[in-house]
Amino acid sequence: MGRLVVVSNRVGPMKDTGKAGGLAVALVDALTSSGGLWFGWSGKISEEGTFGPFQQQKTKSVQLVQIDMNQADHDSFYAGYANRTLWPVLHYRLDLAVFDRAFENGYRHVNERFASRLHPLLQQDDFVWVHDYHFMPLAATLRQMEVKVPIGFFLHIPFPAPEVLAALPNAGALIRTMLAYDVIGFQTSRDAANFRRFVVDELGGTKGAGGVVKLQDRQVLVKAYPIGIDAEAFAQFPATPDAQRNSARLAKQLAGRRQIVGVDRIDYTKGLPERFRAFARLLEDYPENQGQVSLMQVAPPSRAELDAYIDIRRELEGLTGHVNSRFSQLDWTPIRFLARAFPRRVLAGIYRSSHVGLVTPLRDGMNLVAKEYVAAQAPEDPGVLVLSRFAGAAEGMPEAISVNPYSDEDVARGLQRALTMPLDERRARWQPMFDRLCREDAKNWSSSFVADLMASRREVGASLTAA
Ligand code: ADP
Repeated sequence: MGRLVVVSNRVGPMKDTGKAGGLAVALVDALTSSGGLWFGWSGKISEEGTFGPFQQQKTKSVQLVQIDMNQADHDSFYAGYANRTLWPVLHYRLDLAVFDRAFENGYRHVNERFASRLHPLLQQDDFVWVHDYHFMPLAATLRQMEVKVPIGFFLHIPFPAPEVLAALPNAGALIRTMLAYDVIGFQTSRDAANFRRFVVDELGGTKGAGGVVKLQDRQVLVKAYPIGIDAEAFAQFPATPDAQRNSARLAKQLAGRRQIVGVDRIDYTKGLPERFRAFARLLEDYPENQGQVSLMQVAPPSRAELDAYIDIRRELEGLTGHVNSRFSQLDWTPIRFLARAFPRRVLAGIYRSSHVGLVTPLRDGMNLVAKEYVAAQAPEDPGVLVLSRFAGAAEGMPEAISVNPYSDEDVARGLQRALTMPLDERRARWQPMFDRLCREDAKNWSSSFVADLMASRREVGASLTAA
């Protein structure tokens, strides 16, 4: 088995600091089992040259290589094309996308820089696994440098219908560069099907057997690898002293009332204002919940430098004030909005203390919170997951209550159903979801992708140049 090389925008941490997501845990596991190299941006801006000095760190058999970006590259590549162009387009939000030639050039430029820094570090028996929308053209650039090792790509966010993606200027050229990968993984079978359809309808490719797409001399395996969490660890967290201390504080505050919980980064894809309005609709349409059921929204700010994110936070603060001033009682506040992060163990305690997990993104690649909420429930008295049909997680969690996040009535109806669900039905829905989460966990996700990548054999000499 060769060495695994992982490329992702942010690298590490190698140890579970309590904040690391399931992704870092899964990748660390894959890297330590094969030995490997993890390559990406340091998160730092340095003006000393386009890319600052390599920062290398060796933990057991894993080498971390992190490079800096200068301000101009950060602005056009990261804050620009990645987060103002690709992020909204791939989440179906053409209305929020910025199309700017300078962003596109910066994106290509940074991909070339990353490829040229990575190239000399590669060895003959390596296999390379590239992550996410920051690096879609990376393999094409590496192929131009005569890199022949297998290269795979996994997209963590949705891949939209071709009718949506076609609005991105030069979409055809970008997707064509992706055919330089040997394996392309998506979160759901719908995303994978959208990609195949783009290759066939927009690029003139053909479909082969087993999810393969073909275009000229390229044959690429296109497949869904739904990402999992470390379900067993999450199931243990609520029993840790940290989680129990915080659950006890929450229980005291709730005083026998029930709680709905939402946990999301502040992002326009997460449907947060719609969620707050749906909760107000629950209180209006089913008034027996007034004074009895509250919504706790935990939401750390993200990408705070982008205007769209500042606006959404303001809107949420306004909505919280509006709903609370309308419905509050002397001893009950309907919405508690905590704009901060918590360690994962504490989050697990919050999940367990909440009778309903409310996960209503307008569009989401997977949504790990849905999985974490289920994993953290008490088997003898589990809470109910109310889940947007537009989250990737919905494909693998048919036992959740599925709702349309755009409809406050539908979400309110789903919440009422969850709040009134008898124990035997709650158990019957929870158990198969939990079993599936344990089977299809983070380790299973990375090992199935890596197995397919290793099985792929690149035909010598076949290379596709960036269109
Ligand atoms: P995304 O990757 O778009 O942010 P996911 O739901 O897939 O959405 O993953 C979010 C991750 O971030 C989860 O692992 C979740 O536990 C974590 N997270 C979200 N909100 C918080 C918070 N307030 N404190 C700590 N972790 C959080």
